[in-house]
Amino acid sequence: MENSVGMDCGVFSAIDFKRKPIFPYVYWGMRAQNHRGHQSHGFLSFDGRFHTHHSLDLIPKIKKNDIQQWLDHLPGYIAIGNVRYTTSGKLDEKALIRGTQPVLVKKGKLKLAISFNGNVVNTVQQKKELCKAFPDFSYECDAELICRKLAVELVEKRDLQSAVKSCMNEIEGAISVTGITPDGNLFAFKDIHGLRPLCGGCDHDRNVRAFSSETVGLDINDFVRDFEIRPGELVMATKDGFEHDQLVAARKKAFCAFEFAYFARPDSKLNGKHVYEVREEFGRNLGNEYPDIVKDADLILSLPETSDDAAFGLQDGTELRWERCTRRHRYVTERAFILLSRERYSTINRKINIIDHKLEGKNLIVVDDSIVRGDTTKVVVEKMRRLGAKKVHLLITFPRILGPCFYGVDMATYGELIGSTREPEEIAQAIGADTVNYQSLDGFVKATGMKKDELCFGCVTGQYPTPMAQRLANWMRRRFESGHKETGRIYEVNVENIT
Ligand code: 5GP
Ligand code: MG
Repeated sequence: MENSVGMDCGVFSAIDFKRKPIFPYVYWGMRAQNHRGHQSHGFLSFDGRFHTHHSLDLIPKIKKNDIQQWLDHLPGYIAIGNVRYTTSGKLDEKALIRGTQPVLVKKGKLKLAISFNGNVVNTVQQKKELCKAFPDFSYECDAELICRKLAVELVEKRDLQSAVKSCMNEIEGAISVTGITPDGNLFAFKDIHGLRPLCGGCDHDRNVRAFSSETVGLDINDFVRDFEIRPGELVMATKDGFEHDQLVAARKKAFCAFEFAYFARPDSKLNGKHVYEVREEFGRNLGNEYPDIVKDADLILSLPETSDDAAFGLQDGTELRWERCTRRHRYVTERAFILLSRERYSTINRKINIIDHKLEGKNLIVVDDSIVRGDTTKVVVEKMRRLGAKKVHLLITFPRILGPCFYGVDMATYGELIGSTREPEEIAQAIGADTVNYQSLDGFVKATGMKKDELCFGCVTGQYPTPMAQRLANWMRRRFESGHKETGRIYEVNVENIT
């Protein structure tokens, strides 16, 4: 079984109809979204020809003396960018670089480039199909698969609408794409369920139009926020404005709920709501849902920074004080650390500093956005106890995760999820906390301002919005419960063989 390399990413693209150099906008649009992926990044620009830059790690700062070099390297009035986050798959540098986006595909005389955020579920079938058109196709990432699919369809059907429509109808998964056509048009589209965010905007003079995973990519460029792309919609950036084309009637909308809890930046807007305000509401909800825990506690703590707003909301709705004695080391951004062998608390210690002077003998509420494998909370609880805390209650904004995600969040198997078989009391025991308390699903939904059936809660309810994901989940669950060892990202399995 191969590993899939889709995963959550961030995209940004822009076109200047006055034909001025576009790279700076795309650079900043991506810098604002580095939180969506920091393993690799890339840019691709167009000035009649395509120019690319791929590299590992965070997007670098550009020194003054190097600015011209970057502009020369990525010339043109259209560009797309990507930041990527893969946790599965081969993690050696060569493999990472090969899977780095944006991707550029050639088919005969045709050249097409895209930047993609999401994850394909029916990879195996799609790969098989594409090998007919590209006998040399060595699959590196889902973006390449989608780009090749679009290229094949474009050669055959000749118009982008038909090509994108085939893509929407035949490729199952979370697909937020922005790309450049062979004749230099900028487009963007979303899968029929609209699983991941993608919005559009423009500069104040309306010469530059842009697409961005999150609104912060527009904000950093001082662009006007315009619209969120609808499920099944293709949008073209034209001189006169955006052209919207509903190619496939939207099925059930299924926007990833985890974006609200964890992925998106707090200052982004999702569904017209500021994410930080939604998270504050999560915190207030937790206070209302667990009054006995609130009564038992002396202090609120958060795990910076994704749960800070929820902690603020909890403080707001209770008499308790949010003690800000947990702080992130600002410039420590690695996912893996150089460690000394004696450092058991390494990762969390490197990321978060917990100041101990107020914890002695206290009953603490620790707010976090999610428990996935339970690693973070386990280490934190242990550390709080060492620092003298009497009790540690965990309040978690995202409801209990009991199943994998097929749409780009890094949780692929039942076995790795601490919540897949355990009730909250058992999770508390496994983590070493006094209690573990999740926000209710209904409370969560209400805070987002969306309807329950417009959100994807596959990992919480086991109900997935797309058919193959559902079949895979059921099959995986049965195998997991009968003691089979799970080996990795299961959607690379040939699903035709499963029942
Ligand atoms: P756990 O440690 O339980 O496996 O994961 C939960 C913690 O990891 C939470 O503190 C949450 O903020 C963070 N988290 C949740 N999802 C992701 C993810 O996809 N990537 C990274 N880097 N952290 C995550
Ligand atoms: Mg966290």
